[in-house]
Amino acid sequence: AQARAAHAERLQALGQLAGGIAHDFNNVLQAIGSSAGLMERRAGDPEAVRRLARLALEATGRGAAVTNRLLAFARRGALRAEPVAPAALLDGLREMLAHTLGAAIAVRVQAPPGLPPLLADRAQLETVLVNLATNARDAMPEGGRLDLAACTDQAAAGHPAGLAPGHYLRLTVRDTGTGMPPEVLARIAEPFFTTKGIGQGTGLGLAMARGFVEQSGGALLVESEEGAGTTVSVWLPQAAGGDGAAATAPPPEGVLRG
Ligand code: ADP
Repeated sequence: AQARAAHAERLQALGQLAGGIAHDFNNVLQAIGSSAGLMERRAGDPEAVRRLARLALEATGRGAAVTNRLLAFARRGALRAEPVAPAALLDGLREMLAHTLGAAIAVRVQAPPGLPPLLADRAQLETVLVNLATNARDAMPEGGRLDLAACTDQAAAGHPAGLAPGHYLRLTVRDTGTGMPPEVLARIAEPFFTTKGIGQGTGLGLAMARGFVEQSGGALLVESEEGAGTTVSVWLPQAAGGDGAAATAPPPEGVLRG
């Protein structure tokens, strides 16, 4: 009976993985598709074509990270953490999202200069952030604003519960969308919980985002107000050997880009 239970558990994990891969792969295809579509329309503008080709290549990289998850599951591989510069990460994401989310959604990045690097698997982190941005878009059918921000834990008001002592970076994805009622907010991290129609949502985006962030030694926090919008905070450890001064000094005033 024990072996059967373990088998059932493994099957369930595999089902979750397959659903998550389908979900993330759709986002990658969307990014490549919209870049290719724009390239076709702007074929006469070599600079635009070059930029769009790079966006498509970056999306391909995320696609490879998605399929790598399957391989990692097969060999129970670990995440490949590396130092990641938060401002550059968010700037790259903004450029990509500006194309894929449509003109009705204004994407902005706010990151003070001199932020220390965070420690995470870059491709997986990008996938998580694209997932969060896709949720934000779905919550703003009439358009709105998407703010991506980064700050050190010194600039944020207190660590969320459950984080080990240490220095962290906080990335936030904030939308001006529909927000969620408390009964939805209470369930969003459950695998397969979705309020979207069949074929629209898998209910795996946030469950996988939380899994990745916690495996990376961080925490994921969702705050939402119905009718006002949602803020998702991703806390991740600072890379050792990061700029200690930036970690302890009060952060300079944020700069707005986008
Ligand atoms: P999916 O997007 O496939 O439904 P998720 O796990 O990413 O799966 O999200 C679960 C549910 O949480 C969504 O169906 C939606 O109801 C809610 N949700 C997530 N992000 C947001 C957001 N930014 N604004 C409003 N609701 C959200």
